[in-house]
Amino acid sequence: MPDNQTPSDVLSALAGLLSTGGVSLVDLTRTLSPDDPTIVMPPEFGQSWPVRIERISRYDGKGPAWYWNNISFGEHTGTHFDAPVHWVTGRDLPCNTVDTMPLSPMLAPACVIDCTDACARDPDHLLTREAILAWEAQHGRIDPGCWVLMRSGWGRKTGADYAGLRADGAHTPGPDADAIRFLVEDRGILGFGTETIGTDCGQAAHLSPPFPAHHYLHGAGRYGLQCLTGLEALPERGALIFAAPLKILAGSGSPLRVLALVPGA
Ligand code: MN
Repeated sequence: MPDNQTPSDVLSALAGLLSTGGVSLVDLTRTLSPDDPTIVMPPEFGQSWPVRIERISRYDGKGPAWYWNNISFGEHTGTHFDAPVHWVTGRDLPCNTVDTMPLSPMLAPACVIDCTDACARDPDHLLTREAILAWEAQHGRIDPGCWVLMRSGWGRKTGADYAGLRADGAHTPGPDADAIRFLVEDRGILGFGTETIGTDCGQAAHLSPPFPAHHYLHGAGRYGLQCLTGLEALPERGALIFAAPLKILAGSGSPLRVLALVPGA
Protein backbone atom coordinates (compact mmCIF):
# COMPACT_ATOMS: atom_id res chain seq x y z
CA MET A 1 0.00 0.00 0.00
CA PRO A 2 1.47 3.41 -0.94
CA ASP A 3 2.36 5.60 2.08
CA ASN A 4 -0.31 8.17 1.31
CA GLN A 5 -3.13 5.57 1.14
CA THR A 6 -5.07 4.43 4.19
CA PRO A 7 -6.78 1.02 4.38
CA SER A 8 -10.03 2.92 3.96
CA ASP A 9 -8.72 4.40 0.68
CA VAL A 10 -7.80 0.94 -0.54
CA LEU A 11 -11.26 -0.45 0.22
CA SER A 12 -12.90 2.53 -1.53
CA ALA A 13 -10.63 1.99 -4.51
CA LEU A 14 -11.58 -1.70 -4.61
CA ALA A 15 -15.30 -0.87 -4.44
CA GLY A 16 -14.77 1.58 -7.31
CA LEU A 17 -12.88 -0.98 -9.37
CA LEU A 18 -15.59 -3.60 -8.76
CA SER A 19 -18.28 -1.19 -9.97
CA THR A 20 -16.38 -0.18 -13.12
CA GLY A 21 -15.09 -3.64 -14.06
CA GLY A 22 -11.48 -2.78 -13.26
CA VAL A 23 -11.73 -5.77 -10.96
CA SER A 24 -14.22 -8.47 -11.88
CA LEU A 25 -15.78 -11.34 -9.98
CA VAL A 26 -15.49 -14.85 -11.41
CA ASP A 27 -17.70 -17.68 -10.17
CA LEU A 28 -15.66 -20.85 -9.53
CA THR A 29 -18.69 -22.82 -8.33
CA ARG A 30 -20.59 -25.75 -9.85
CA THR A 31 -24.38 -25.66 -9.46
CA LEU A 32 -25.51 -27.77 -6.50
CA SER A 33 -27.65 -30.24 -8.41
CA PRO A 34 -28.93 -33.80 -7.84
CA ASP A 35 -27.38 -34.65 -11.23
CA ASP A 36 -23.81 -33.71 -10.26
CA PRO A 37 -21.72 -36.75 -9.23
CA THR A 38 -20.40 -37.04 -5.67
CA ILE A 39 -17.44 -39.08 -4.49
CA VAL A 40 -18.05 -42.84 -4.38
CA MET A 41 -16.31 -44.76 -1.59
CA PRO A 42 -15.63 -48.51 -1.58
CA PRO A 43 -18.83 -50.30 -0.47
CA GLU A 44 -17.50 -51.20 3.00
CA PHE A 45 -17.35 -47.47 3.89
CA GLY A 46 -20.10 -44.94 4.45
CA GLN A 47 -21.22 -42.80 1.52
CA SER A 48 -21.63 -39.06 1.13
CA TRP A 49 -25.16 -37.93 0.20
CA PRO A 50 -25.67 -36.32 -3.18
CA VAL A 51 -27.82 -33.19 -3.32
CA ARG A 52 -31.53 -33.73 -2.73
CA ILE A 53 -34.00 -30.90 -3.27
CA GLU A 54 -37.55 -31.39 -2.02
CA ARG A 55 -40.17 -28.75 -2.71
CA ILE A 56 -42.11 -27.38 0.26
CA SER A 57 -44.36 -25.14 -1.82
CA ARG A 58 -44.43 -23.12 -5.02
CA TYR A 59 -47.34 -20.70 -4.89
CA ASP A 60 -49.73 -23.60 -4.30
CA GLY A 61 -51.84 -25.23 -1.57
CA LYS A 62 -48.71 -25.85 0.56
CA GLY A 63 -47.90 -22.14 0.40
CA PRO A 64 -50.02 -19.94 -1.86
CA ALA A 65 -47.69 -16.91 -2.01
CA TRP A 66 -44.26 -18.46 -1.54
CA TYR A 67 -41.74 -20.86 -3.08
CA TRP A 68 -39.13 -22.72 -1.02
CA ASN A 69 -37.35 -26.09 -0.79
CA ASN A 70 -35.82 -28.38 1.78
CA ILE A 71 -32.34 -29.50 0.76
CA SER A 72 -29.92 -32.13 1.99
CA PHE A 73 -26.36 -33.00 1.01
CA GLY A 74 -23.10 -34.26 2.45
CA GLU A 75 -20.52 -31.82 3.76
CA HIS A 76 -18.33 -32.90 0.81
CA THR A 77 -20.91 -32.55 -1.97
CA GLY A 78 -20.50 -30.25 -4.97
CA THR A 79 -17.99 -27.42 -4.95
CA HIS A 80 -16.83 -27.64 -1.35
CA PHE A 81 -14.28 -26.78 1.31
CA ASP A 82 -12.23 -29.28 3.37
CA ALA A 83 -11.29 -28.30 6.93
CA PRO A 84 -8.29 -29.86 8.76
CA VAL A 85 -10.53 -32.06 10.94
CA HIS A 86 -11.67 -33.86 7.76
CA TRP A 87 -8.54 -36.04 7.90
CA VAL A 88 -7.16 -38.08 10.79
CA THR A 89 -3.84 -36.19 10.54
CA GLY A 90 -5.66 -32.95 11.44
CA ARG A 91 -8.07 -34.26 14.05
CA ASP A 92 -6.30 -32.86 17.13
CA LEU A 93 -5.39 -29.43 15.73
CA PRO A 94 -6.98 -26.34 17.31
CA CYS A 95 -9.76 -24.55 15.40
CA ASN A 96 -9.85 -27.35 12.84
CA THR A 97 -13.56 -27.25 11.97
CA VAL A 98 -15.48 -24.95 9.64
CA ASP A 99 -17.23 -23.20 12.56
CA THR A 100 -14.04 -22.56 14.56
CA MET A 101 -11.47 -21.88 11.82
CA PRO A 102 -10.07 -18.35 11.51
CA LEU A 103 -11.65 -15.96 8.99
CA SER A 104 -8.50 -14.80 7.23
CA PRO A 105 -8.10 -17.96 5.05
CA MET A 106 -11.53 -17.19 3.58
CA LEU A 107 -10.03 -14.36 1.48
CA ALA A 108 -6.59 -15.18 0.09
CA PRO A 109 -4.53 -14.96 -3.13
CA ALA A 110 -4.17 -17.83 -5.56
CA CYS A 111 -1.56 -19.30 -7.88
CA VAL A 112 -3.02 -21.31 -10.75
CA ILE A 113 -1.02 -24.14 -12.29
CA ASP A 114 -2.37 -25.15 -15.69
CA CYS A 115 -2.13 -28.90 -16.26
CA THR A 116 -4.95 -29.07 -18.80
CA ASP A 117 -2.99 -30.57 -21.69
CA ALA A 118 -1.32 -33.27 -19.60
CA CYS A 119 -4.65 -34.16 -17.95
CA ALA A 120 -6.35 -34.40 -21.37
CA ARG A 121 -3.70 -36.92 -22.42
CA ASP A 122 -3.82 -38.87 -19.14
CA PRO A 123 -6.73 -38.73 -16.66
CA ASP A 124 -4.36 -40.13 -14.00
CA HIS A 125 -1.89 -37.27 -14.51
CA LEU A 126 0.00 -36.31 -11.36
CA LEU A 127 1.30 -32.81 -10.65
CA THR A 128 4.97 -33.14 -9.64
CA ARG A 129 7.46 -30.97 -7.75
CA GLU A 130 9.37 -30.57 -11.03
CA ALA A 131 6.27 -29.15 -12.73
CA ILE A 132 5.76 -26.74 -9.82
CA LEU A 133 9.38 -25.58 -10.05
CA ALA A 134 8.97 -25.09 -13.81
CA TRP A 135 5.84 -22.99 -13.10
CA GLU A 136 7.82 -20.92 -10.58
CA ALA A 137 10.63 -20.36 -13.09
CA GLN A 138 8.05 -18.72 -15.34
CA HIS A 139 5.73 -16.98 -12.86
CA GLY A 140 7.76 -16.50 -9.68
CA ARG A 141 7.95 -18.24 -6.34
CA ILE A 142 4.70 -19.37 -4.73
CA ASP A 143 4.04 -17.14 -1.70
CA PRO A 144 3.23 -18.50 1.75
CA GLY A 145 -0.46 -18.25 2.62
CA CYS A 146 -1.81 -18.56 -0.90
CA TRP A 147 -4.06 -21.13 -2.50
CA VAL A 148 -2.50 -23.29 -5.20
CA LEU A 149 -5.19 -24.26 -7.71
CA MET A 150 -4.58 -27.15 -10.10
CA ARG A 151 -6.28 -26.43 -13.40
CA SER A 152 -7.08 -29.71 -15.14
CA GLY A 153 -10.02 -28.99 -17.46
CA TRP A 154 -12.26 -31.16 -15.25
CA GLY A 155 -14.39 -28.16 -14.40
CA ARG A 156 -16.02 -28.32 -17.84
CA LYS A 157 -16.90 -32.01 -17.54
CA THR A 158 -20.21 -33.40 -16.31
CA GLY A 159 -21.72 -36.77 -15.38
CA ALA A 160 -19.74 -39.96 -15.88
CA ASP A 161 -16.97 -38.13 -17.72
CA TYR A 162 -16.48 -35.85 -14.71
CA ALA A 163 -16.53 -38.66 -12.11
CA GLY A 164 -14.10 -40.82 -14.15
CA LEU A 165 -15.31 -44.00 -12.43
CA ARG A 166 -14.11 -47.39 -13.68
CA ALA A 167 -14.24 -50.85 -12.10
CA ASP A 168 -11.07 -50.06 -10.13
CA GLY A 169 -12.19 -46.65 -8.88
CA ALA A 170 -11.98 -43.07 -10.12
CA HIS A 171 -9.43 -41.93 -12.70
CA THR A 172 -8.93 -38.21 -12.16
CA PRO A 173 -5.75 -36.10 -11.85
CA GLY A 174 -4.17 -34.66 -8.70
CA PRO A 175 -0.84 -33.95 -7.02
CA ASP A 176 1.71 -36.62 -6.21
CA ALA A 177 2.89 -37.00 -2.60
CA ASP A 178 6.18 -35.18 -3.11
CA ALA A 179 4.48 -32.23 -4.81
CA ILE A 180 1.90 -31.63 -2.10
CA ARG A 181 4.47 -32.08 0.68
CA PHE A 182 6.68 -29.53 -1.07
CA LEU A 183 3.81 -27.04 -1.33
CA VAL A 184 2.83 -27.48 2.33
CA GLU A 185 6.27 -27.70 3.95
CA ASP A 186 8.57 -25.69 1.64
CA ARG A 187 6.12 -23.11 0.27
CA GLY A 188 3.75 -22.80 3.24
CA ILE A 189 0.61 -22.68 1.10
CA LEU A 190 -2.78 -21.99 2.64
CA GLY A 191 -4.44 -24.80 0.74
CA PHE A 192 -4.79 -26.72 -2.50
CA GLY A 193 -7.73 -26.59 -4.87
CA THR A 194 -8.82 -28.81 -7.76
CA GLU A 195 -11.55 -29.05 -10.38
CA THR A 196 -12.00 -32.77 -9.65
CA ILE A 197 -13.95 -34.61 -6.93
CA GLY A 198 -11.24 -34.44 -4.28
CA THR A 199 -7.94 -32.68 -3.67
CA ASP A 200 -6.30 -36.04 -4.33
CA CYS A 201 -6.22 -37.93 -7.59
CA GLY A 202 -8.78 -40.68 -8.18
CA GLN A 203 -6.27 -43.47 -7.54
CA ALA A 204 -4.75 -41.81 -4.43
CA ALA A 205 -5.47 -44.82 -2.21
CA HIS A 206 -2.47 -46.43 -3.95
CA LEU A 207 -0.05 -43.53 -3.31
CA SER A 208 2.32 -43.34 -0.35
CA PRO A 209 1.02 -42.07 1.99
CA PRO A 210 -2.49 -42.85 0.75
CA PHE A 211 -4.41 -39.65 -0.13
CA PRO A 212 -1.29 -37.50 0.23
CA ALA A 213 -3.07 -34.16 -0.32
CA HIS A 214 -5.47 -34.88 2.54
CA HIS A 215 -2.64 -36.30 4.66
CA TYR A 216 -0.22 -33.37 4.33
CA LEU A 217 -2.66 -30.46 3.95
CA HIS A 218 -4.89 -31.26 6.89
CA GLY A 219 -2.05 -32.55 9.10
CA ALA A 220 -0.52 -29.08 8.77
CA GLY A 221 -3.83 -27.27 9.40
CA ARG A 222 -4.28 -26.29 5.75
CA TYR A 223 -7.40 -26.42 3.63
CA GLY A 224 -8.82 -28.01 0.51
CA LEU A 225 -11.16 -26.83 -2.23
CA GLN A 226 -12.54 -29.18 -4.83
CA CYS A 227 -15.07 -29.44 -7.64
CA LEU A 228 -14.06 -25.93 -8.72
CA THR A 229 -14.85 -24.73 -12.22
CA GLY A 230 -13.93 -21.74 -14.37
CA LEU A 231 -10.23 -21.70 -13.44
CA GLU A 232 -9.41 -20.79 -17.07
CA ALA A 233 -10.64 -17.26 -16.30
CA LEU A 234 -7.94 -16.76 -13.64
CA PRO A 235 -4.44 -15.37 -14.19
CA GLU A 236 -1.49 -17.54 -13.11
CA ARG A 237 -1.21 -15.21 -10.13
CA GLY A 238 -2.97 -12.07 -8.93
CA ALA A 239 -6.48 -13.39 -8.22
CA LEU A 240 -8.01 -13.23 -4.74
CA ILE A 241 -10.20 -16.16 -3.72
CA PHE A 242 -13.25 -15.67 -1.51
CA ALA A 243 -14.18 -19.07 -0.05
CA ALA A 244 -16.24 -19.03 3.15
CA PRO A 245 -17.65 -22.42 4.18
CA LEU A 246 -21.01 -22.71 5.93
CA LYS A 247 -20.70 -22.42 9.72
CA ILE A 248 -21.72 -26.01 10.46
CA LEU A 249 -21.31 -27.13 14.09
CA ALA A 250 -18.07 -29.15 14.23
CA GLY A 251 -18.27 -29.42 10.43
CA SER A 252 -15.51 -31.15 8.45
CA GLY A 253 -16.29 -29.15 5.33
CA SER A 254 -19.16 -27.66 3.42
CA PRO A 255 -20.48 -26.78 -0.01
CA LEU A 256 -19.90 -23.08 -0.67
CA ARG A 257 -19.89 -20.38 -3.30
CA VAL A 258 -16.29 -19.73 -4.38
CA LEU A 259 -15.61 -16.36 -6.01
CA ALA A 260 -12.40 -15.00 -7.47
CA LEU A 261 -11.55 -11.30 -7.71
CA VAL A 262 -9.48 -10.84 -10.84
CA PRO A 263 -7.95 -7.81 -12.54
CA GLY A 264 -10.28 -6.69 -15.35
CA ALA A 265 -9.35 -6.79 -19.02
MN1 MN B 1 -13.81 -33.01 0.51
